[in-house]
Amino acid sequence: YYDIQKNSLHGDKLQKLLQGSKYSVEPELNKKVSFIVADITTLEIDAIVNAANSSLLGGGGVDGAIHRAAGKYLYKECLTLKGCETGDAKLTGGYRLPAKYIIHTVGPVGEKPSLLESCYRRSLQVAMENKIRTIAFPCISTGVYGYPNENAVRVVLPIIRTMLESHHSKFDRIIFCLFLKVDQDCYMKYLPVFF
Ligand code: ADP
Repeated sequence: YYDIQKNSLHGDKLQKLLQGSKYSVEPELNKKVSFIVADITTLEIDAIVNAANSSLLGGGGVDGAIHRAAGKYLYKECLTLKGCETGDAKLTGGYRLPAKYIIHTVGPVGEKPSLLESCYRRSLQVAMENKIRTIAFPCISTGVYGYPNENAVRVVLPIIRTMLESHHSKFDRIIFCLFLKVDQDCYMKYLPVFF
């Protein structure tokens, strides 16, 4: 895992990013957030989040990878869920994945900040309802759904921060599972601003 404490921006560069930011550095919260460059289907944690579509029956990108890795019993459980609204989240088992659960959330098509924020909020609420303490997010909506990468990070990190401020005792670790270089660059830039 990426260790933010050791690797974050420092000195002038950090100060510049922090200027105008209402967020201060709080080590107890910061320790719970990290990123990893990985295929999300390989993570052995309580839950991974799927960037699903509203049918919840599988698709391309990360959704396809998760369904392929979890196997056909995931599809069968998804059939019983009768879809999911954009911005909402629903739980299934992890089946053949090393993760115990999958939280399926439906991101907005295009740049719709309140819906993207809702995906992350609802995913964490579903996690808390199920005593899930470690959770990994892919970059929801920034693939086929076309949310600009940098603008997405600037929505994602504040809502994660807000949720952790209210519920930090409920989580051990929140992981951003990054697949593309562009997202690694964005998270490297903004993680030290918000955490
Ligand atoms: P959306 O339809 O919500 O945009 P996509 O699956 O097209 O979802 O893309 C979301 C993000 O997931 C993209 O950054 C993509 O690179 C990334 N991604 C694709 N496959 C994986 C994977 N196996 N693990 C983690 N992230 C992945």
